[in-house]
Amino acid sequence: MNDVNRYIIILTGIVQGVGFRPFVFRIANRLQLNGWVENSGSGVIVDVEGKEDSIKQFIYILQNEYPGNAVITDFQIKSKQVYGYTDFSIKTSVTEDTANFLPADIAVCKSCIKEFNILGNKRYQYPFISCTNCGPRYSVINSLPYDRATTSMSEFKMCPQCISEYHTPSNRRFYAQTNCCFDCGPILKLLDTQGNTVDSSDCIKLARQLIRQGKILAVKGIGGYHLCCNARDLTAVQRLRKLKHRPYKPLAVMANNMESVSKICEVSKKEEEILTGNKKPILLLRKKIPEYLLRDIASNHNKLGIMLPYTPLQFLLFTEGIDYLVMTSGNISGSPICYQDDVAISSLGNVADYFLVHNREIIVPVDDAVVKVVDDHEILVRCGRGYAPLIIPIDTKSRILAVGAEQKCSVCITENGYATVSQYIGDINEYQTYKTFDRQIKHFKSLFGYCPDIYAFDPNPDYISTRYAIEQVGKRIAIQHHHAHMAGCMAENKLSDKAIGVIYDGTGLGTDDAVWGGEFFVGSLSEFKRVGHLKYVTLQGGDSAVKEPWRCASSYLSALDTNPHEFLPHISFPAIDMVEFAVKNNIKCFKSSSMGRLFDCVAALCGFETQITYDAQAAIELESVVDKGINDLYKYSVHDTEDGFVLGYEDILKDILNDIRKQESKSVISTKFHNTLIESTAACVCKIREKTAIKDVVLSGGVFENVYLLEGLISKLRNLQFNVYYNRLTPSNDGGISFGQAVAAGSILKEGNYVSCGSC
Ligand code: ZN
Ligand code: FE
Repeated sequence: MNDVNRYIIILTGIVQGVGFRPFVFRIANRLQLNGWVENSGSGVIVDVEGKEDSIKQFIYILQNEYPGNAVITDFQIKSKQVYGYTDFSIKTSVTEDTANFLPADIAVCKSCIKEFNILGNKRYQYPFISCTNCGPRYSVINSLPYDRATTSMSEFKMCPQCISEYHTPSNRRFYAQTNCCFDCGPILKLLDTQGNTVDSSDCIKLARQLIRQGKILAVKGIGGYHLCCNARDLTAVQRLRKLKHRPYKPLAVMANNMESVSKICEVSKKEEEILTGNKKPILLLRKKIPEYLLRDIASNHNKLGIMLPYTPLQFLLFTEGIDYLVMTSGNISGSPICYQDDVAISSLGNVADYFLVHNREIIVPVDDAVVKVVDDHEILVRCGRGYAPLIIPIDTKSRILAVGAEQKCSVCITENGYATVSQYIGDINEYQTYKTFDRQIKHFKSLFGYCPDIYAFDPNPDYISTRYAIEQVGKRIAIQHHHAHMAGCMAENKLSDKAIGVIYDGTGLGTDDAVWGGEFFVGSLSEFKRVGHLKYVTLQGGDSAVKEPWRCASSYLSALDTNPHEFLPHISFPAIDMVEFAVKNNIKCFKSSSMGRLFDCVAALCGFETQITYDAQAAIELESVVDKGINDLYKYSVHDTEDGFVLGYEDILKDILNDIRKQESKSVISTKFHNTLIESTAACVCKIREKTAIKDVVLSGGVFENVYLLEGLISKLRNLQFNVYYNRLTPSNDGGISFGQAVAAGSILKEGNYVSCGSC
């Protein structure tokens, strides 16, 4: 039974840009099989011919020993008539097929770093060393299939030596599309703030000297520029904050190695795996006390955002006594990350003293990803380099483009049962960020080669993304904001039956035109019913209530008929009186069930005095002072009304005011508040189960970035025999909205419930 047979194998998934074709080629040669392999838009096609035994072995290896960065989602085998191939080859890519899977950027691998450190190696200390297993991908791809010609590496013609590696099956760089060396690849340059080259025989050495002298450098990386300075130089860090207009928001730190990370933070085994893996995100880690690094890196925070070097260039910045660098996105606060050289020099010229640049073009701007570990699982907080784009299987074949919300915006495109979610784009009500959003949509459309049949969007008419969707030609489906949070979380957890959704969020438009954000739903991917919510309060001041937490507190105190002056001593009398007057006369007031605003209120009562300078600052600082040793809680109430279950805030706030009168510490109040929310939320969910017999609970929304609240609620609900689901692959904040919109719209279409909405 060992005749010669022939098979066509079609592999789908993340199989391009991860060294798959060379891998196939090597095995075929080893097993003396003939035929060919090629990239197609939807994956990799193998035509293989040879002895049945060898082919069986070949298939086993394909399925079990494929390259570490690949993900196989589908494997099809068809038998064919024997052709009579005489060798095995890698065919050049076909381009007619539509694109499907975009590989993410990969941190420089161990083998490359080893070569990089060998004196005399062709690529000794070459800042752009890469191989089939590592290097830039998504950020340099112009179109698919992934090939050198379709990336920004196409400008660099390989030298004879690189070409020979590229064509040698036994070489690590066999078919490595980013292959290059000192002779043929990108080069570094050090520029001054005018864009003039600084003369130097060794610009890396000079860059290191400048960092040691306290200078701020703009360094071009994989997905954009970083602003970089010595993390132990107080003057440099303070200067960077001032010039970047970023007074308090924590700065990401890059440490030279694991040993340095362990000096400043607690690191679990899981966390070490993430730090040293092939994605190299910013990982949020608990600070060691006493603090080793400057307080100014992340003041009023118990966590630090840490990453390890992921480009060869970054490794070079670290010798000669520097072990921690601030590595923050190269932008002015609020604007998108700079990725084009001329724009970087003009917009960062006032912040950076020098620019360390290279001549490999960045096609798609991608910030560093931010992750954390909760419940011993990695959770994505911000989708960026290494993770972007997210590719998630979904239960719809429709071609949908979902435009997200407004803050932390991302976009999502679907095709053939997969959703592709973009990197974090930012707050698109800022013009430059809006332009990035627009470009990203165009880029997706051109990569995927189609115009979407359906646009999914948020019904909030004030969102720029909503206006964008309404202007497009095609069908449109509006997905309520918190339903999008819930649907996204359900879909990534592969839930399709009805579930209970607890959506705690900052802001989102409700179906009754109130601001929602403390919501209890019963729903599926396609529909939801609001079965409970945080009690409405009348909040005064629109945007300013979000920026100045004391305004929330003032509104809440008015609702309680309590004198706000007593509890907001740092706010001027006239300012508070104005809010009170406006509440009483219904001037610029809105009804809110937002959990985010309740957090702001409590933070202000606990002494958060100023304007917030970044999203959710007051709430994050409130979480930072939680003391895990305290188990006390406040009184709370859950009422069954005709409007569903209403979680009251009055008892909780009255208890808090009593504690404030007793001069209880901020830490005690914060912990009791958190504990109360965990208890009262669980109580509400239990009541919903009594009525519906549903045991699956989905936790989503931006407020669940709060780890104490999330972990507490997960364990509480599990103890009550619920199945608890939360966001891991997609952010629970508005970065996950586009994915939720896409799956909800897909499900609505599938069920045939699509009705054209009024605004279309
Ligand atoms: Zn490598
Ligand atoms: Fe939201």
